[in-house]
Amino acid sequence: MPVTIDYSKLRIIPDPDTREWWDATRQHKYLVRRCNRCGHKWFPPNIPACSKCMSMEIGWFETAGKGVIHSYVVVVQPIVGAFVGAVPYVVAVIELDDCKEEDGSVTRVAGVLTNDETEVAIGLPCEVLFEATNDPKIVMPRWRVSGSAENTWKFSE
Ligand SMILES: [Zn+2]
Repeated sequence: MPVTIDYSKLRIIPDPDTREWWDATRQHKYLVRRCNRCGHKWFPPNIPACSKCMSMEIGWFETAGKGVIHSYVVVVQPIVGAFVGAVPYVVAVIELDDCKEEDGSVTRVAGVLTNDETEVAIGLPCEVLFEATNDPKIVMPRWRVSGSAENTWKFSE
């Protein structure tokens, strides 16, 4: 069953560190931070310096919005009103396909999946999609399973 978030109960206010990120989601683009000096990428965008070279000369990298589920949790107790009707829902940590670096570094992002827990497993490919909210200035990225894979793993029931 699709997981539905009640956006009327969320109020998201972009700040100077995240404004450009929210501007991008409105255009259906998924960005991560990129260091303009060494190329390292990271998420979330509100960390204002590169953890590898300490440069504060930072920019953005537009990802293709595709990755693999690195891990996930099933939320059964909502702490935000917008999610009361969504439980149980899955929050996944997603390793982005196009953010792998030569030294083995990866960029992982978190997201609420549209799939319920029966459809989710570690190792499955997924992709971003963008949902309109009640606020026309805020478009929310969500993630969905986009295919199958061998050697997946699920939490046992
Ligand atoms: Zn750097």
